Amino acid sequence: MMQDTNRLAIHTITTKPWPIEEAIEGYAQAGVKGISVWRDALDGRSAAKIGDRIRSAGLSIVATVRGGFFPALSEAERQARIDDNKAFIHLSAELGSPLLVIVPGAHPGQSLTESRLQIRRGLEAILPLAEEVNLKLAIEPLHPMYADTRSAIVTLEQANDLCREVEHPLLGIAVDVYHLWWDPHLNRELERAGRNNKIFAFHVCDWKSPTTDFLNDRGLMGEGCIDIPGIRREVEKNGFTRFIEVEIFSTRYWNMDQQEYLNLIVKAYKDHV
Ligand code: ZN
Repeated sequence: MMQDTNRLAIHTITTKPWPIEEAIEGYAQAGVKGISVWRDALDGRSAAKIGDRIRSAGLSIVATVRGGFFPALSEAERQARIDDNKAFIHLSAELGSPLLVIVPGAHPGQSLTESRLQIRRGLEAILPLAEEVNLKLAIEPLHPMYADTRSAIVTLEQANDLCREVEHPLLGIAVDVYHLWWDPHLNRELERAGRNNKIFAFHVCDWKSPTTDFLNDRGLMGEGCIDIPGIRREVEKNGFTRFIEVEIFSTRYWNMDQQEYLNLIVKAYKDHV
């Protein structure tokens, strides 16, 4: 199933040791067509200038990553999170990003139900600004192992429900195979998301077996047990035509020469996506 790289995008965190300037150059030379920019990659830089640099290199900006983390125990802290999201929305607009990925958040000191309510309120608080700058927001349901601190939204069904409750055309979903591959209702919920035009983004990597670290041991596509081509087929059957984003957190790969690693990513994309 060899394929071209016209829809291949990479998250800057995937090649974390590279400053964004090197990532832009490296991706472009490797035939990668899109880049998703993590917020830390912009530290100490002008977002507008980085945006120009990305476009001059012939790359598309797929998304900025990541806002969210709305739940907190105190009202003051929740407001601080909302303000921080607003700052990132402005930064995303300066960069020229069309989409901001939202990791919803959770707090172990309160119920998941309460955290979900706070996520909804957080989204409602930032959507007017997103509207002003015409930025889409994609909530990313995370694997349930992260339900304590990272996401009270752990299934695509919950993400679909949240989209229905908030009901805003700029609010949709980032589908990440790492978080959703195990879900027996995945196809049903992909259909529902597609029907409502809510599949805004598609992230790939692989689930290594065994996994030695539940945050930073994600695999290259083809290295684990996820049926990535199968999920891709379902995602596309339901109308998705945008970039396929490689997002891998891996201490092992961060320790490698990043150019060699990038070559492996491109090959894994061609062979296993
Ligand atoms: Zn993701």
